[in-house]
Amino acid sequence: MKVLLDEERIHAGVDRLAKELNGIYGERPLTIVAIMTGSIVMLADLIRRLEMPVRISLIQASSYRGGTRSGDLVIQDHMMLDIRDREVLLLDDIFDTGKTLHEVSQRLKQMGPKSLQTAVFLNKLGQSTVAMKPDHVVFEIPNEFVVGYGLDYQDLYRNLPFVGVLEESDLARHALN
Ligand code: 5GP
Ligand code: MG
Repeated sequence: MKVLLDEERIHAGVDRLAKELNGIYGERPLTIVAIMTGSIVMLADLIRRLEMPVRISLIQASSYRGGTRSGDLVIQDHMMLDIRDREVLLLDDIFDTGKTLHEVSQRLKQMGPKSLQTAVFLNKLGQSTVAMKPDHVVFEIPNEFVVGYGLDYQDLYRNLPFVGVLEESDLARHALN
């Protein structure tokens, strides 16, 4: 597998994001709404670098349904906290077409937060089909299917400490399993 982002770069990137957020929110409480399951690794690293009181709210949104092609978005929010009048940061692993972040943002806005910003670990350049951009991006990447640091292929590879590009040989191995 080709390594796109190694551990050192990832940690420097997450540090940068944490500093940005500490600068914006200071000591004001922040509710982070993290989109499962891809964002859990960044969530765990990020929150330990944040200085304000943090609440964590999880929702699940899946569009890839196991493969590498986009399908319909399914949102589950039974682990969602009340965010009315709260300062909220919506966190996802990757902004590809932008459909997921756009739809989830719209839903959160209806819940009456005091403020809402969005942050993603990765932004896939040139792929967006929606009229929004994430407020914070840790890394811009080319249009390749990546795994690791939370991102999966058929629910595998999330535990890789680096981000890698899945190659034909990796896919072929899966087809046999
Ligand atoms: P979007 O709705 O922006 O098209 O897609 C966002 C979701 O698609 C992400 O939350 C992620 O689950 C999935 N996704 C998009 N691109 C990739 C990729 O390169 N690798 C993996 N593993 N998931 C991706
Ligand atoms: Mg996802």
